Amino acid sequence: MQNSQGFLILNLYALLIMIATSIIFFHKQRQKKVEVDTYARLLIITNLGTLSGIILGLFVNPHMNFPIIFIEILNKIYLVFLMLWIIVLTFYTLAISLVPEKKIPTLKKIFYGLSFISVLLTFLLPIEVTMTEQNTLASGLSIIFSYAVFAIGFVTQIFCVILDYKNAKNKKYVPIYLLAFFGIFVLILQMLNPSLNYLVNPALVFITFIMYHTIENPDLRLIQELDFAKERAEKANHAKTEFLSNMSHEIRTPLNAIVGFSTELKEDDSIRESARNEIEDIITASNNLLEIVNGILDISKIEANKLEIVEVEYNFVKIFKELVSLTEVRIGEKNIKFEASYDPMLPGILYGDATRLKQIILNLLTNAAKYTKEGYIWFKVSTIVKDDVCRLIISVEDTGIGIKQENIPKLFTKFERFDMKKNSTIEGTGLGLAITKRLVELMHGKIVVQSVYGKGSKFTVAIDQKIVKMERDIEEEKEEETIEIPDFSSKKILVVDDNEMNLKVANLFLKKYKVQIDTAMNGFECIEKVQNNSYDLILLDDMMPKMSGGETLQKLKQIPGFHIPTIALTANALSGMKEKYIKDGFSDYLAKPIEKRELNRVLCDFLKK
Ligand code: ADP
Repeated sequence: MQNSQGFLILNLYALLIMIATSIIFFHKQRQKKVEVDTYARLLIITNLGTLSGIILGLFVNPHMNFPIIFIEILNKIYLVFLMLWIIVLTFYTLAISLVPEKKIPTLKKIFYGLSFISVLLTFLLPIEVTMTEQNTLASGLSIIFSYAVFAIGFVTQIFCVILDYKNAKNKKYVPIYLLAFFGIFVLILQMLNPSLNYLVNPALVFITFIMYHTIENPDLRLIQELDFAKERAEKANHAKTEFLSNMSHEIRTPLNAIVGFSTELKEDDSIRESARNEIEDIITASNNLLEIVNGILDISKIEANKLEIVEVEYNFVKIFKELVSLTEVRIGEKNIKFEASYDPMLPGILYGDATRLKQIILNLLTNAAKYTKEGYIWFKVSTIVKDDVCRLIISVEDTGIGIKQENIPKLFTKFERFDMKKNSTIEGTGLGLAITKRLVELMHGKIVVQSVYGKGSKFTVAIDQKIVKMERDIEEEKEEETIEIPDFSSKKILVVDDNEMNLKVANLFLKKYKVQIDTAMNGFECIEKVQNNSYDLILLDDMMPKMSGGETLQKLKQIPGFHIPTIALTANALSGMKEKYIKDGFSDYLAKPIEKRELNRVLCDFLKK
């Protein structure tokens, strides 16, 4: 059935392609997947089929006078490989389309059976080979049978694609489309010239070659390397987070002492006026330092995608008032007129991340105060209410130094600061606006800037918040935010901290409440004291050597009848801390440097009961 020379040359080429494809395929570490396994079989069959075709081409030569039975067997071997090829491709098509994964082993068994029967019949059925000078033609039942198998296989594949028409564009079906194309092509050619049927095998080789690119067979070695690189990057990132959290702890601990002592000193009546001013400067400087630490922590949280939005019900007007007083302090003695207004239609209670919203606006107000020498700062909040959503439109406008047009696109990039010569006296890190922008995006809002260099800037933020209650509670908003210090002289508190300075600060703050204070410098001492005394509250530092606050608490909980509310004291301000401490069994959490207001809230919450 071959035009010997053409057949031989084409099959030699085909074999080269197949060997190259096989080397590449088998060289890779393969995934254990049905399609990859099937393809491996297909490659072996195609290689052997092509090889048998070449042997056939070499021996089928009328001048050589080989016994006809030998030629017939060679023809049958060749046919067997063609048939196995279509059987394997049909199995592949069924496996990727209609047959569910669980049924694949059964399908495999059926196909093994079919292959065996087909091979057997091809060998048993008769074949007739006639050789002329130009052609070798094979005919007989064996040929008809193998053509029939080929046709059934092909029809089954088309049937699969039709039933799975939704995925018809899947590149895994490309071999079937190619088979259809070549099938018609070879058929037409053969009709024109019956001796051209030697094109069949090269066509199958071509399809097998293309199929290499359509099966999913990622290089596992590469994936392993990527996994390894990812693991290393994660470790490095983890180390960075650990470092930042430790650094924040190391910086906050002394800051706690500085802020604590200076705040108390400032209120001491015996201090002379000039010293009081210096103390003010110490407080401002420490607050700036704290702001920087917080900024670095925020940016690293943002980069690690760890910054979460925590939504609560809140009163915007209260936040507004706090922001106004914080800005007034920031403007201080500067010759700036500060005007602040909010829409009287502002809903009473909103739902959203109040803390982050406050941070966004405070960043803008702080910048306005920092970068304006004289003139005005306008802080305006307007609203658009639609259904149960309130769009807050917050603008901060100043008559400050302004920003050059070319710098505006870089404004929200971290560590970008402009006009460093002019602004060398203004403290900052260039992190504020980068954080602000990310926060606004996290809250699905928008931020825009308008600025004229030398004249001033206007930052506008729009953020949607859910409305919980429209009506405003004017009385609640008026409530003066002064701290009332209750008398807790009948109560006893245990403060546990490994840092003596921190214990002193806590003592200083707690003294005013007239509460009885006991201290412990580590977890062991704490447990011993709790066993021998009775306390109403424990303030427990988390980061202590040998036994951490968390471990100490677990041990305390094993003491029969232990039910003293325990507050975590921590200088680690990474996100989600409050939730973490509550989950670990603490009653609440206080961040260092301790804020008087927060301390007051915790004391009232747990000692008034
Ligand atoms: P920081 O203020 O800590 O330097 P920001 O990210 O908040 O960092 O601001 C980045 C830079 O943008 C500032 O260094 C300043 O040059 C400029 N900028 C921000 N706000 C204003 C403003 N209101 N007026 C003029 N320049 C501003």
